[in-house]
This record gives sequence, C-alpha cells and structure tokens, in this order.
Amino acid sequence: MTATQTARPALRFRSADTTTGIVAYAVASRHDARRTNVVSLDTQTGNTFCTCKAAECLKGCWHEAAIQAAWAAELAALGVAWMSDAQLMRLGRKSRLCVDTYRIRTGRSRIEDRVALLAARAEWRRRTRRGLIERDALPVAA
Ligand SMILES: [Zn+2]
Repeated sequence: MTATQTARPALRFRSADTTTGIVAYAVASRHDARRTNVVSLDTQTGNTFCTCKAAECLKGCWHEAAIQAAWAAELAALGVAWMSDAQLMRLGRKSRLCVDTYRIRTGRSRIEDRVALLAARAEWRRRTRRGLIERDALPVAA
C-alpha cells in the first residue's frame, strides 16, 4: 500500500431481518466523512445492494464483494459450520422461538437471535444444496 492509498474502512454489522433474510452492514465513506453507506445481502438469493456512490453510478462497488466475506465470517464466528445436523436444527429452532417470543413480548427481537436464526438457515440451505443432510439422521419433529 502506498502513502496515497488509504485502508478500506471495516464493515460494521447493522441488522438482520428474519422475515426477509436480509443482513445489512454499515461502512464509512472514504470520500465523505459525513456519509455512512449501507450494504445489504439477501442470505436467501445471494443478491447484494449498496447505497454508495460507486454502486449508484454503476461503477463497481467493493462493499458488495466485501459483505459476502463479512457474512461468512459472522457465520464462522457462530460456529455453525462445525455443528452436527441435529445441533444446527436445535440452534435454528431455539433462535426461531427466541425471535418470536421477544417479538410478541417486546415488539422487537434481539439481534443475536436474528443472526443465529439466519446463520442456522443459511448453513442448513448450504448443506441441503450439497446433499450433506441425511434425512434419516434427523430427529423427529415435535
Ligand atoms: Zn458500495
């Protein structure tokens, strides 16, 4: 990196919407100190969206590439990739219950529950797409 280049600012986790499956990160603009860009990832389709000027002008946006890595790091931090199918199912069910319960009681769910639910869903979909989940091995639904 030369003296004229500046490091890219880090993406900061902002929100996870369990109804749409969209996660969002905030990132400070390198060109305007008053501006914060928001980059989003649809965890179901993989589509991305960014509010930065480069994306707006269709010039190519590094945020949309970076959010994939940021979300993958979030999933790794939760350790879902290392869970057994049964553990993953328990995490998903527990998180869903927590999200629903907090929404009913307080009108708003906790961010950690939303992230855990989306992480469990994303990992479940990944395993299903790759044929890694053996249906016979799963616990019987209650
Ligand atoms: Zn962008």
